[in-house]
Amino acid sequence: TVEINNTDYFESYGQLSVHELMLKDKPRTLAYMEAIQKNQHLFKDKIIMDVGAGTGILSIFAAKSGAKRVFAVEASNIAHTARKIISDNGLSDVITVLDERVEDIQELPFGVRQVDVIISEWMGFYLLHESMLNSVLFARDKWMSPNGTMFPSHANIYAAPCDMRELFNDTVGFWQDVYGVNMSAVIPDVVSNLLSKPYVGIVKQNRLLSKPVHIHSIDCNKISISDLQTLTNSSVYQVCKVGVLHGFCLWFDVIFSSTLGGETVVLHTGPDHPETHWKQTVILLPQSFDVSEEDAIPVTITMDSSQDNHRHYELSLEFGE
Ligand code: SAH
Repeated sequence: TVEINNTDYFESYGQLSVHELMLKDKPRTLAYMEAIQKNQHLFKDKIIMDVGAGTGILSIFAAKSGAKRVFAVEASNIAHTARKIISDNGLSDVITVLDERVEDIQELPFGVRQVDVIISEWMGFYLLHESMLNSVLFARDKWMSPNGTMFPSHANIYAAPCDMRELFNDTVGFWQDVYGVNMSAVIPDVVSNLLSKPYVGIVKQNRLLSKPVHIHSIDCNKISISDLQTLTNSSVYQVCKVGVLHGFCLWFDVIFSSTLGGETVVLHTGPDHPETHWKQTVILLPQSFDVSEEDAIPVTITMDSSQDNHRHYELSLEFGE
């Protein structure tokens, strides 16, 4: 996987380049901006916690929407940069940067005991990679008022079988004829490397072999950390066109549900929407299959939080229900 590994997790987020990538992801950042602006009543005169504030962007959006107080919690070194950015923008009176893990906060400044809204951009590849949602739920259970709001409020995971012929041509087929030289000797290694982990990349809508199947719903206000240990779904994928089945494509969306007077905003990361830095994730099969319209493929997809690295999930796929 393209990943941030556990030991280096906060070190990676200390690098500006990671934040630059996220900030330049317009569908991502604009969805948060729009969701906050279109639901100002959630922020006006309210106390907000931004879990994993990074450069402080979401805290600043919240402050601009009239928040009374924002706690920008950030465990990596980017917290110091956030503090400077917040001060340069004249918002130090409203936003307080807490440069520690949200799990380590013993008490909030100014004698605050509860927050009204938790905002966070916690999503990883296929939604759950990095498992940052666990930290956000911890913050919810410890600091959010009983009638508080999680923002975003919901998330969905989708799956569809896909044809990855371009990927196989580029990575495997390439070795068959390299400037007239047969280098197919390396193919077994190339294939086993490719299949050893989920592939993260752009999947075009026309490479999906069925309609998207909704495989998980998460209600951020209700789900518990233990519910995230294992997520499993069995569905039948009705093939809608002729193609070669190489794997199953996964993606997600998150929803900022409106409450009274607001407007619901959805951040999409699917093949039928503008590209984001999450791209799509594909679970590749050890073997490909020719498929056509009559085929119905029963598949069970399991996401299991890894024993070795709590920031990783093991993705597995079984034919049958
Ligand atoms: N909110 C910013 C950054 C999102 S990336 C933006 O939208 O641009 C997620 C950030 O959360 C990273 O900077 C990471 O260091 C931080 N983070 C992850 N887990 C955390 C935890 N448990 N406590 C504090 N910060 C955390």
